[in-house]
Amino acid sequence: MAWRSRLWEFTGLKRLRNCGRVAHTSSGGAIVRVSQTADGPRAGLSGLQSCGSPWSCPVCARKIGAERSAEVARALTRVAADGGSAALVTLTMRHDRGHRLADLWDALSAAWTAVTSGSGWTRDQKTFGVVGWVRTVEVTHGAKGWHVHVHSVVALDGPTSPEMMWAMGDRMFARWERSLSGKGFSAVADKGGLDVRPVRMTGESIEQVSDYISKITAEITSPSTKDGRKTGNRSPFAILRDALATGLADDLDLWFTWEQVSHGRRQLTWSRSLRALAGAEKSDDDIASEDKGGDDLLTIPRESWERMRHDVADLLDAVEIGGVEQGVRWMRSRGLGFRLVSRGDVQAGVEYAVGTVAAAAFAALLYAIVSGGDVLAALTGIVQRALSTTL
Ligand SMILES: [Zn+2]
Repeated sequence: MAWRSRLWEFTGLKRLRNCGRVAHTSSGGAIVRVSQTADGPRAGLSGLQSCGSPWSCPVCARKIGAERSAEVARALTRVAADGGSAALVTLTMRHDRGHRLADLWDALSAAWTAVTSGSGWTRDQKTFGVVGWVRTVEVTHGAKGWHVHVHSVVALDGPTSPEMMWAMGDRMFARWERSLSGKGFSAVADKGGLDVRPVRMTGESIEQVSDYISKITAEITSPSTKDGRKTGNRSPFAILRDALATGLADDLDLWFTWEQVSHGRRQLTWSRSLRALAGAEKSDDDIASEDKGGDDLLTIPRESWERMRHDVADLLDAVEIGGVEQGVRWMRSRGLGFRLVSRGDVQAGVEYAVGTVAAAAFAALLYAIVSGGDVLAALTGIVQRALSTTL
């Protein structure tokens, strides 16, 4: 959350600037909601536009990654149940500092199409019993410039030996290499251009592979600023983290290049057959705009929202630290109007234990309001809703 609010200040992407801070409708505002996680309460907002960027928005990327991971796991579980197997195939290309990110990416997209189409692929599908594939693009940046590569999972219809999987990988790589060289790029198989790993078709292993291929771009992979810059490749979000921490112009430039070039490109793509097995129907936008989980606590009318939206990260922090009563205090100290979501609404669909905690918080909140002698309308609304709630 904090990251996105810092990004709002300087991103060049209009939809990312609006993500999570501009309401859907001209009359509406935002709703503060809280979900309980292993790391404690997490406050967020609903009723707002989302940008749906799997590449550049820390919030949307995580949501999209989680949903895609579930889809990939669903597909691989079906393959496993039918007695099939799967290989994780990684294809990379050679690059140096002189290459532009857009050119590398265009060449990579064309090369993947060459790998998975034409008579060579038709023959491979028969030879190796290919059920389908899903692939993602990973991009990092290091001493040799932008590093763009493909991770794919190729599902097969029967048990397959690692040797057979490598034989398939070699044939895929031949088309990959040919397509790249046609665009003035190259790849060398025995210098890391090709990697093939059998996927163990157990539940835990399927989950790991699904997470890996779906969330790879949402993670900060490099450990720390200095080490990352010196020794290894940084993911785009690691570059963003460093840019925010240090304000270095080089990192800011890299980030701007990244968000412009990645914008509008597909992150996870499927063969039609495997997509059908996954039941993957939702677009990135659909996933990003879904309100999942959590309990609504406060609704903020538009007039208030316009006045506070630049500081909303503060409010969310307050709610995470001090619960709804801290949030109420935050709003009141700024003279901002709001409505409390009734206890009945809060409790709907919540387990009893959580409901008890909510009730205790609610009592503290009522005290805070009454002792402040303020927000009479809100209080009246609560009482009315409490009376009309059937428990
Ligand atoms: Zn977003």
